[in-house]
Amino acid sequence: MRGVIALDGPSGTGKSTVARRLASALGSGYLDTGAMYRAVTLGVLRSGGDPAAVAASVVVTVGTDPADPTVLLDGVDVSAEIRGSEVTLAVSAVSAVPEVRQILVARQRAIIAAVVDSHGGIVVEGRDIGTAVAPDAELKVYLTASADARAQRRTRQDSAAGRQATLEETLADVQRRDDYDSSRAVSPLRQADDAVELDTTELDLDGVLASLLDLVDG
Ligand code: C5P
Repeated sequence: MRGVIALDGPSGTGKSTVARRLASALGSGYLDTGAMYRAVTLGVLRSGGDPAAVAASVVVTVGTDPADPTVLLDGVDVSAEIRGSEVTLAVSAVSAVPEVRQILVARQRAIIAAVVDSHGGIVVEGRDIGTAVAPDAELKVYLTASADARAQRRTRQDSAAGRQATLEETLADVQRRDDYDSSRAVSPLRQADDAVELDTTELDLDGVLASLLDLVDG
């Protein structure tokens, strides 16, 4: 498929894994916009600076090859560090700063245009892709899942990555971020009117990928 596929939804819906697999299956590029907010957040935590100033001054480089989505902050690989609990706790507040969003949305649009030029297509995952970053996307999908299912997936991912958190702690974090994200004054998370909603609660990753490929063909 040519053009942009926008995958939005809250965390724990399997979005990241399935977005990379979809991009590989289609031979298109891939952009994880959450990784960009996480990298800026790491810059803010390290420097203690004002989020808008940090977003304007740091150089965030994200890999657009689904096989190698390395994230660099000022030239240094921070792919693992941006997934840690310090960044996860702070990222919602940093991404609620309007100037931070303005700067990153502009960079995301530039990356998308360059990848569409060179590869013909890109799968972009985030919260506001269908509504703000790429409102003209060829396909918009909004992934959902119950809070329990999302907490279970996150706990499995965390323990596979060597991070320890109990299911209770993770469920509390998922609910905290849901509450924050559903307060519309600060959150980018919205379903575009023309997005297809896909509930992944009862699906495994293969099932989600198959549904997405059907939508692409559809
Ligand atoms: O997708 P991920 O969980 O890595 O995103 C981290 C955080 O970045 C989200 O909780 C959200 O606060 C923010 N984000 C955003 N807009 C996006 C992608 C992520 O505000 N397009």
